[in-house]
Amino acid sequence: MQKAALVLLSGGQDSATCLAWALARFERVETIGFDYAQRRKVEVDGRLGFIAALRQRFPRWGAKLGSDHRVEMGELAQLAGTALTPEAAARLAAKGLPENFVPGRNLIFFTHAAAVAYRRDMQVLVGGMCETDYSAYPDGRDDTLKALQVALSLGMDHPVTIETPLMWLDKAATWQLAHELGGDALVQLIREETNSCYLGERSKLFDWGRGCGLCPACGLRASGWQAWQASRAAQTG
Ligand code: ZN
Repeated sequence: MQKAALVLLSGGQDSATCLAWALARFERVETIGFDYAQRRKVEVDGRLGFIAALRQRFPRWGAKLGSDHRVEMGELAQLAGTALTPEAAARLAAKGLPENFVPGRNLIFFTHAAAVAYRRDMQVLVGGMCETDYSAYPDGRDDTLKALQVALSLGMDHPVTIETPLMWLDKAATWQLAHELGGDALVQLIREETNSCYLGERSKLFDWGRGCGLCPACGLRASGWQAWQASRAAQTG
């Protein structure tokens, strides 16, 4: 039986839901976060607030929740600053990706996480990647992560499983999953203590949570919330 999982926790809605998912399934859960220049500082700082509130409001989960690991990733900024050849710049532009995009970032994160998991005797890595998002990058796709799971297991000579519970869910279904896992209390916690806004705006609290209310990430989160509310109203109505 697999007993321990390491959750890649960014501080956003998706990874926070994944942490609850893991706590409902595994006997021991730890978290890992990556600090780098492009990272929204508010999201990184928000991770600790979310963990503390989760421990307080869900003591049965708090008892299973172990260390939080933070990995400094200054080299990502360096990679993002590597000069682009004209061909590479054109390729990024054709895919609609920004010039500071670091290809394969999730591969780097999972490889670091697998090394920590090995040392902490955890068999499962959990991430909030999702193919239904407009922002689904190739390094977070199901096929990529299944291939990476094989590569990590071979490279570490030890079984590694990558779980992505949100891979085929839309944002409404992600809210529904949170509700199934922890009821209104967990939905409330995710509303108040997670942040997905591109601008890192935390001062405004909407029905769907904190954010600027205008950027694409806030739009996605808001429309998912509204779709979930509508489906609940239809069920009870
Ligand atoms: Zn926003």
